[in-house]
This record gives sequence, C-alpha cells and structure tokens, in this order.
Amino acid sequence: MINIEKISVARNLTIREALSALNATAGGVLILTKGDNSLERIVTDGDLRRLLLEGFGLDESLRHLEVSDPIVVNSEYTRLSALEVMNKHSINHLPVLDSNGKVIKLLERKELDEQILLSTPHLGSLERKYVDDAFNTNWIAPLGPNVDAFETSIAQQVGSKYAAAVNSGTAAIHLALRVLGVGHNDVVFCSTLTFVASVNPVLYQGAKPVFIDSEPSSWNMSPLALENAFIDALNLGQMPKAVIVVNLYGQSADMDSLQEICSKYDTPIIEDAAESLGAKYKNRSSGTFGLIGVFSFNGNKIITTSGGGVLISDQKDLVDKAKYLSTQAREPVAHYEHTEVGYNYRMSNILAGVGRGQLEVLEERVKARRRIFEMYESGLKEIVAISPMPEPDWSFSTHWLSVFSINPELTAIDVSTLIETLREEMIEARPAWKPMHLQPLFKGVKYFKHSNNSFSDEVFKNAFCLPSGSNMDELQVKRVISVLKSLFTKKSS
Ligand SMILES: *Cc1c(COP(=O)(O)O)cnc(C)c1O
Repeated sequence: MINIEKISVARNLTIREALSALNATAGGVLILTKGDNSLERIVTDGDLRRLLLEGFGLDESLRHLEVSDPIVVNSEYTRLSALEVMNKHSINHLPVLDSNGKVIKLLERKELDEQILLSTPHLGSLERKYVDDAFNTNWIAPLGPNVDAFETSIAQQVGSKYAAAVNSGTAAIHLALRVLGVGHNDVVFCSTLTFVASVNPVLYQGAKPVFIDSEPSSWNMSPLALENAFIDALNLGQMPKAVIVVNLYGQSADMDSLQEICSKYDTPIIEDAAESLGAKYKNRSSGTFGLIGVFSFNGNKIITTSGGGVLISDQKDLVDKAKYLSTQAREPVAHYEHTEVGYNYRMSNILAGVGRGQLEVLEERVKARRRIFEMYESGLKEIVAISPMPEPDWSFSTHWLSVFSINPELTAIDVSTLIETLREEMIEARPAWKPMHLQPLFKGVKYFKHSNNSFSDEVFKNAFCLPSGSNMDELQVKRVISVLKSLFTKKSS
C-alpha cells in the first residue's frame, strides 16, 4: 500500500525536488494537492519530462504544470469498476477520494488485477519427469507404461483391485453402464444433485434416468427417497439396472444405508466419485463402495490430467470388459475382428504421466483444500446467515469445493447477489449444481423427493461454492472472507 502523505506535493515544489520525490517512491506518481489538501492532479514522471523538454529548468517550480482534471473514484469502487476506469483511460494509478476531495488511497493496477478462480490445476514437481519419459521412449500412444503405472497406483492408493484409465470421467461412467448391461429403455436411478456428466451416459445408452433427491445431513443421495423409488419400481415391474450414486463436492454419500437398500433389491451401484477422490467414508476410500467406482481428472478436480478419468472395481472381468470396450471392442486377434460396438476412450500415455505425478501429491492437495475450508469456516463464523455444507461424523470430506448456504430467513441477500458482489471483486464463485430434475433436458423424468420438500431445490436456491483451489494462499482466502463480511454487514442487520 502506498503512503499517501509521502507522495503528496504542492505547486511550490521544484522540478528537481519532484523528481527526487518520485525517485524515492515505488509507485511512480505524485499527488499534487491544493491548499485545503484536496487533490488537484496526479503527476507522473512523464509530466516532469515534458516540463523539462519545454525548456523549464530543474529549479523552476511545478506551477508550470498544466491544470488537468484528475481521473478518480470514490470509496464505493470495486476492483472491477476501478480496473475498468484504468483501462478506459490507459492509466495504472487511480486515486480514491473522500467526500472532501482528499485522497484516501491510491489504487495500483498490479494490486487490483489479481483474479481468484474457483478451482485451478495445481501441478507438482514430478509430472514433467513422467511426461518426459513418455517422449523419450516414444510412448505417445493411448496405452503405455505410464497408463499401466497410473492404473496400478490409483488402485493401490484407494484400495481397489483393478483400474482402467480413460479419457474422461464421463467416459468411465458410460463404460460402467455398458459393462453392467444397461441398454435401451432400461431404468437407472441417479442422484439429482450433480453435474450433468453423471447422467448424460444414461442417455447415450438410450436408457431412462429416474432422479433421487439428496438428504440434508450429507447433501448426497437420500436413502429414504431411494427406498421409495425402489418400491415404486417394484410396483411398476420395472426395476433399475443400476444406481448412480454421486459424492458431492468432495464428500461421500451415506454408503452403508444406500448399499443396504441396493443389495436388498439386488441392484449394482456405480459410484460417481468424480468429485471425491481422496475422501473417506468410515475410514475407507470414497469410490470403492460401488460395484464400479469412477474418478475424474478434469482440470478443475482435486488432481488433474487436464482431461481424464478412471474406472475401478474389485471385479477383474468388469475392468477387463471396460478396457476392451474403450479400445473399439477389438477382439484379441490380428485381423481386427469386432462383435460389438466399442469406443475410443483410452487415456493417453502422456496424460497418464501427468496423472502419476499428481497422484503423488494427492494427500497434500486434500490437506490444502481442507485447510482452505477451515479458514473459510472460522472466518465466516460470525455471519449467522450462512453456514457450511455439513460434514457427518462418518465423513472425511476433501472439501474439493468449499460450499456454504444462505439461510433465507436471516437475510435478504440471495445467491446471485452474493456471486455478483464477489465477481465485482474479481472472485469467482458459483451456485450449487442445478438439480437434474429441474433441467429442461430431463423434463418429465420421474423424481423422488426426500420429504414433502425437495431438499436439492433448497440447496440449489441457497448454496454457493467459494474459490477452493489448493494453490490459493492465505491472503486470497482472507480477501474472499472480507468481501463476504462487508456484504453481510452492509446489507443486513
Ligand atoms: C466432473 C464430473 C464428472 C465428469 O468428469 P469428466 O472427467 O469431466 O468427464 C462426472 N460426475 C461429476 C459429479 C463430476 O463432477
């Protein structure tokens, strides 16, 4: 922060004194003030240079400077509005004036234009080495030693027996449906509160999703709603072929309760753990509870291969079948024999190299995200109108995203106002996922609520995700907290 007093000068200063004052400041500008200490204009080294070129001597005073209207903002400015003013006038310094026209602050472009994003890739030190290995050995194909090693490491890390690395989490879900025999007109139960990628593959198969609400304690699939959906399916004589259970924002669903219901009705679980790699349910790794589990390594996930996914299972035949389907369902003979439709879904050996490096820092990334959540939690505690996504006793959440919700009974501030306020401060926040049963894509699809009220609708209306990248520093988290604090103290009582 620039010390305003140190750079404030009057017209009686000589050009020499002004130059030496400029020289002593880091900012590169002086503030020319009038008798009452209000701002007259800004003086840059360019202004002084022009005076000299016009023939004024070093010992003449600044009174030869032209009168010019300074470009200023008042204290209501936001980062974005201040930057817009700077861009419009091609300037790098912008004085903030109080109501008496006095400068209370000098904004500098380089302090303002730091954006805080929701969740960005965070590379470690080993990715490059594994990628170089791929280049050096000319293993640039989908398949290769990095892919094999990546599959072995991830299976080992989560405690699963087998893994198939593919080019996206969506592809892994699609393969999971295929290997479980989900086809045309089959029913699949799906979490409604999720990203569309968990359900799109159901449509790829021409199958029919049925949506299940979330429960308030974990925000994940409600066992009550699931049981009701099964009872309905039993009555209709159309049982689901699979249940896709999503683990939201880094937190496992209540797997014991869900598994008990699914095994009663003899229906396999596909566990969409795209957002929960590194999380635990009762000390066991999230993703290992379904017959098949799926992780994503998209750029915004807790670790990334820029794009990628993996399918895991303890059942070898399922993973072998997924690998076969992901390589065009090619029969193991030399002459390219095919008996069923396949896909080009394998992960490239280069990206698997990135994945190997990322896996080695997974634990650190989980720690960092949890720490960011803790900072938010304690920093935002005094705002009674917002509360964090709950973490049940049985859950060890990675807090892939730090998610909070607004209690609409305690404040008039809604999610869109909050997101817009943060955006004005160049902070990216997002609403919670829009539930699938509210999507035009799934109009008319059957939906089972947790109770009389749809809980996922409430989450969508009131919850918001804050920047949570593991590469965020403490100052950035504090910046987010302070914007939220001033929003809630300004607008609510
Ligand atoms: C990211 C995500 C996916 C899809 O993963 P991609 O690798 O982006 O295809 C699936 N389900 C959920 C819940 C996700 O968040």
